[in-house]
Amino acid sequence: MTASTPDVLIVGGGIGGLALALSCHQAGISCRVFEAAAEVLPLGVGINLLPHAMRELSELGLAEALATRGIETRELAFYSRDGQFIFKEPRGRYAGYDWPQLSVHRADLHRVMLEAVRERLGADAVRLGHRCIRVDQNPSRVTLHFDNGHFQHGNVAIGCDGIHSAVRLQLFPDQGPPQYSGVNMWRGVARWPAFLGGATMISTGWMTVGKTVIYPIRPGTPETDGKQLINWVAEIEQPEAVRQDWTGRGRLADMMPAFAGLTFDFLDITAMIESTEEILEYPMVDRDPLERWSFGRLTLLGDAAHPMYPRGSNGAGQAIVDARFLTGRIREHGATPEALLAYEAVRNPATARVVLTNRTDPPDSILREVWQRSGGKRFERIEDVISAEELQAISDRYKKIAGFDRETLRARPSFV
Ligand SMILES: Cc1cc2nc3c(=O)[nH]c(=O)nc-3n(C[C@H](O)[C@H](O)[C@H](O)COP(=O)(O)OP(=O)(O)OC[C@H]3O[C@@H](n4cnc5c(N)ncnc54)[C@H](O)[C@@H]3O)c2cc1C
Repeated sequence: MTASTPDVLIVGGGIGGLALALSCHQAGISCRVFEAAAEVLPLGVGINLLPHAMRELSELGLAEALATRGIETRELAFYSRDGQFIFKEPRGRYAGYDWPQLSVHRADLHRVMLEAVRERLGADAVRLGHRCIRVDQNPSRVTLHFDNGHFQHGNVAIGCDGIHSAVRLQLFPDQGPPQYSGVNMWRGVARWPAFLGGATMISTGWMTVGKTVIYPIRPGTPETDGKQLINWVAEIEQPEAVRQDWTGRGRLADMMPAFAGLTFDFLDITAMIESTEEILEYPMVDRDPLERWSFGRLTLLGDAAHPMYPRGSNGAGQAIVDARFLTGRIREHGATPEALLAYEAVRNPATARVVLTNRTDPPDSILREVWQRSGGKRFERIEDVISAEELQAISDRYKKIAGFDRETLRARPSFV
């Protein structure tokens, strides 16, 4: 069965796929989204959207809806395992950017995007229950085949089907599983009183002994007694990877030995984690950058193209930037193989740099440096361990590599 023929067929209705649908619609390009899940469930925990992602979401007219659901991050602060202050810097508009940094529940971000797609493109723009199992093409069109027996023709197809992408597997059948980093992650959300002014993201410790990343993602309300929804991630180096599934349930007992007694004067981290109702576990994995993504009328986007360690708040952001940049190229070249090559020529090397930097020198390498140089011991003054200039340089270098240093972001023209 086929419906009318859209220009752009989008495989996967996650963050990248929906950003692409909204961008195509904005640019007057016809598209349709095919999503494997039969229903949309509020899955995942927190996501941090940095100013480069928020610029794109603002240009899509979603900034206001997101602002009411999330928390505008004011600052990022690093602490040693026992709560000694290391470094902090203002973020987003508090650092002079034109766009905010926003911390939000993935389910809230996904819902806002999905509602916008349905409102703007029509109720049937996202076809649920359509798992893509094969993509065929000839010189004039591409065809998606689904597990429900349906198929769909179009001019180009974009694999936005996430880290376990079926489209990527068809293009690279010998790729093997994603590579384990040697670190497992436990994640959750807890209702907790605001700390450090209610808009600070903190990162503590180091993965050898237990690292945490903690930030608020929903404001408090009278119904929650003013308590915010706090997202936390706990990371521990372990020889074996836990199961790879975004909804995989974790157990407090498996992680808590590394986080017992973690009480700072502004936050009882142990108690907050212990109050969490549902804990998810996931291994930190990525894949080596690919030399190419585009094959004729088919290309990859987001996690399907460049899965990365979540160590720089860039997974969703880079998927959104991909979507916007690709739309700009389709607008220029039409829904053609040339557009896909023009997209890949810029976004492939740009995202490869982020994937590789997330392995070696993401922002949390601030914690690694302090851990290694201090031997994990208490220090009198942080300046005796590492200079403020060196810490700032680690942070600033990452901003440039990931494409969100303030001046470059402000100066560049719109992608679409
Ligand atoms: C359920 C879930 C929970 C997540 N939770 C978090 C989180 O808590 N924190 C965080 O930082 N990141 C999380 N992520 C990852 C984060 O959303 C992505 O890294 C990022 O948004 C990149 O977006 P993407 O669109 O490339 O991939 P994703 O957002 O992963 O979207 C891929 C989409 O493709 C669909 N799909 C897969 N295979 C097929 C197929 N064969 N045919 C059709 N559709 C298919 C999937 O169902 C999914 O909707 C989560 C992803 C998922 C899917």
